[in-house]
Amino acid sequence: MPPEDKLFESMQRVVDVVLDGPHPTSKVAAGVLTDKILTCATNYWPADIDKKIGADVELGNTSGTIHAEMAAVLATPVTEGAIVFVTDPPCPNCMKNMIEAGVIAIYIDHKGFQKEFALKRGVDFQTMSLEMARLASINVYEIRRKERKIIPIVETFGDRPVAPPVTDNKGAQAVANVINGQGDTETICVNGGIVLPLNEAELQQEKETFGSLKYDFIQTPLNRLMMVMRRRGLSFAGDVTVNSLPGPREAVNYLGTGRRTLKIRDRSIGSEASKLAVKMLEEAEVLKITDAA
Ligand SMILES: [Zn+2]
Repeated sequence: MPPEDKLFESMQRVVDVVLDGPHPTSKVAAGVLTDKILTCATNYWPADIDKKIGADVELGNTSGTIHAEMAAVLATPVTEGAIVFVTDPPCPNCMKNMIEAGVIAIYIDHKGFQKEFALKRGVDFQTMSLEMARLASINVYEIRRKERKIIPIVETFGDRPVAPPVTDNKGAQAVANVINGQGDTETICVNGGIVLPLNEAELQQEKETFGSLKYDFIQTPLNRLMMVMRRRGLSFAGDVTVNSLPGPREAVNYLGTGRRTLKIRDRSIGSEASKLAVKMLEEAEVLKITDAA
């Protein structure tokens, strides 16, 4: 862990950029601290969504914004072992992704717990986000800058889940050609699945106790692919192929990587929300989808 001064300084730097964010009402900022740099970002609309679809338009069942935590993670070269600072309590989707990106601790600014929308959506944070952090051994703290106090919310020191196993190219649900930090190319293959170290019965129990209608404990393949890539510091070097339609939030996160093309093996598979979101992105020429063999 970095010295305490570094923690307060990093949180302050994240708070300093929050007002730069383009969102008119829900301004959130996050920073990812590695041993080299602090990468800060706010929530934002990918330029094409803003220009061609509109900021107020729902994509399937989601807004077109990239959450601040994902914006900062996607902009960080290597996230394994990183610490996240964020102005607001993270939603379960961002928590799930941060677990898979190899984040080890999350510091949340005290003011984030007082905002109106945090109070409204706080239940998903209190239940699912924190439960996932606990199960994944990610420590979560509230940081009080003025009092210079750090208050533990979740503190466990167990084993963190490792990057999910990579499966073979043919069976995998998401596949990308990538280039690693040494300049070598490789093919990375992942499946969707459970993020946490739980068996099926335990997962069912977690869902009953902590689950929500909006969020899931299961990770989707394209999100997993993007998080595995950030964890290991890999860059896209060619086609990205998925078996079925990405979820709306997954598709928005994917646009946050700068990619504008996606290959899909069977586009009849996906939720109604996915079908609607993908149709909107295609019609507006924000995302170009082609059939994969
Ligand atoms: Zn989020």
